[in-house]
Amino acid sequence: MPLPHGRGSISAEGSSAHGPPVLEAAARLRILVNLSRQLAEARTDLDLVFDTVCAHLVSVLGDGCAAFLLLDDNTSLEPVTIRHRDPARRLLLEQLNQARKLRVGEGFTGSVMASGKSLFLADVDAAILDATTLPEYKPYLDQVGVRSMLVVPLAGRSRVHGAFWLTRDPGSPPYTPADRELVEAIADCTAMALDSARIQLEHGDDRRRLAEAASRTARLQQVTAALSSAATPEEVSSVVAHLAVGAMEGVAGSLVLPNESRTELHIRSYIGHTHVPHVVKAFQVLPVTANNPVAISYRERKPFFFSDLISYGAQFPELLASASEAGYEAAAALPLLARGEVLGVLWVRFATPRPFEEEERALMSTMVAQCAQALERSRLYTRAQKAVAQRDEFLSVAAHELRTPLAAMKLQIQSLQRNLSRPPEAEDNKPQLIAKADAVARQVKRLEALVTDLLDLSRLTAGKLALRLEEVDLHELAREVCERMAEEATRAQSPLTIYAESRVRGHWDRARLDQVLSNLLSNALKYGAGGPIDVTLTADSTWVFLSVRDRGIGIPPEDQARIFERFERAVPGRNYSGFGVGLWICKQIIDALGGRIRVESQQGQGSTFEVTLPTKREP
Ligand code: ADP
Repeated sequence: MPLPHGRGSISAEGSSAHGPPVLEAAARLRILVNLSRQLAEARTDLDLVFDTVCAHLVSVLGDGCAAFLLLDDNTSLEPVTIRHRDPARRLLLEQLNQARKLRVGEGFTGSVMASGKSLFLADVDAAILDATTLPEYKPYLDQVGVRSMLVVPLAGRSRVHGAFWLTRDPGSPPYTPADRELVEAIADCTAMALDSARIQLEHGDDRRRLAEAASRTARLQQVTAALSSAATPEEVSSVVAHLAVGAMEGVAGSLVLPNESRTELHIRSYIGHTHVPHVVKAFQVLPVTANNPVAISYRERKPFFFSDLISYGAQFPELLASASEAGYEAAAALPLLARGEVLGVLWVRFATPRPFEEEERALMSTMVAQCAQALERSRLYTRAQKAVAQRDEFLSVAAHELRTPLAAMKLQIQSLQRNLSRPPEAEDNKPQLIAKADAVARQVKRLEALVTDLLDLSRLTAGKLALRLEEVDLHELAREVCERMAEEATRAQSPLTIYAESRVRGHWDRARLDQVLSNLLSNALKYGAGGPIDVTLTADSTWVFLSVRDRGIGIPPEDQARIFERFERAVPGRNYSGFGVGLWICKQIIDALGGRIRVESQQGQGSTFEVTLPTKREP
């Protein structure tokens, strides 16, 4: 370790030819006053404190002087200044001290540090010198030797800061008790200066910490403010990537969110990476199971911090190349957690290695928690907006749906009234009247079904589905429903066929299963394009399988999941009448019975709705 060189505020090192001066009391006092002033001016510059003092000591007491400072480990000593009247001897002392670091308890200086008491050897005894001097310092004994020695601790208020080591070479007079007193007084002054330097440094540290805390709060507030005015998930994602990453002092970052089936993670927004677009592209879609910090953070719902490329490369060797190509040195994967659910992961890159101290980690986790809440809020907001739009759409569809049979009924009844007001023309008028009355009855049935759906919609939305369980023969029920719909099937020109195993019985709610079958069959007739419709029933010991197959318009793959949701329809415009609630009601009923409902379909080829029901409902 290179030793600091003197800044030479006072230099008397060249006066060795005349030997150390004999000091009068007044001169001693002057030295102390002078030194105190200089120490006060030195403030926090510890090197300067030591240099000033050692320069004084060599100049007034000679011959050599070194100042040692206790390091923060409280065991090793660092020589901060070494002086000697003779430059060659100073060099030798510097070299020997470079070769070895003194420890508390070792040699003369180390034992003074340990005891906190001065060591005064006016006439150094050769045997003691030989026994106590550490082997590394022996060359000084051989080449120069020691006539007299003084080692004085720098005892501060709460610790021994270090020690002054003074030596007189053979040929010089020994140190006197008055010299010792002077050095001790100087050491006390120096220790006081060191005390206050430490206090100032600690205050400086406190100030730095306060400033950092204020900056952290300001950054957090900036992000929170931006998040609070972001309404949609897209706006939130953009704030997260563009503001939160910067507020964390990241140079690049990406917000990664799962797809609907939670099998993949997709980059939704990012910042930086402009010089490596191919890296962004390579990580655009990531399987949730990948051995990648982002995927692991998502799976384990935990943050991961990589302080430098070495720790990153040790854990993910295959990812090291792209990280170093992008020029990033540290990274953090931060999961966005809201109400115990992981919504995604924010991946932040830093330009330089980072220790990620506790305060920084805390800031990052608060920031991602805010981001997660904002994302959750925006999703709820978007969902609520969609629900309002759906309800409005539903009201207009419902009004239209109820009007159509009413309008038809009105016409039929007007015509009936006209017929009835004419004089009876005997029997030949009767078939016409019957046909009209039948048409009215059909419209009433349709209205009844619509009103039932509406009632179910409000009941099921409120979560009120009471099941009345009884022994039901599904084959018999299917036959009944098909018979009831025979007329509608004939009009649609779709033959209805039931394929059934003999025993398809179970413990179910008969009326609700009737509703499911009616819904599936009326959909098959509505969307079946006049093709044949098959109802198939099979069973094993615990499950019954029911399928309704048509050969109609089919359903695009991207719509197959959502048609089971409330108000969701997958038909263009108003070509087909309907509320978009029938399948949702079916699903609520099947779920309540402990079963499953799904669809298999190909556009233009037809659809098969499959229902699986447990024969006995689990309690
Ligand atoms: P509705 O038929 O009143 O619109 P549903 O909830 O019964 O409401 O069905 C939702 C949507 O699912 C329908 O709008 C339609 O797009 C689609 N769908 C249902 N059954 C079939 C089917 N058999 N073939 C093609 N599409 C269907």
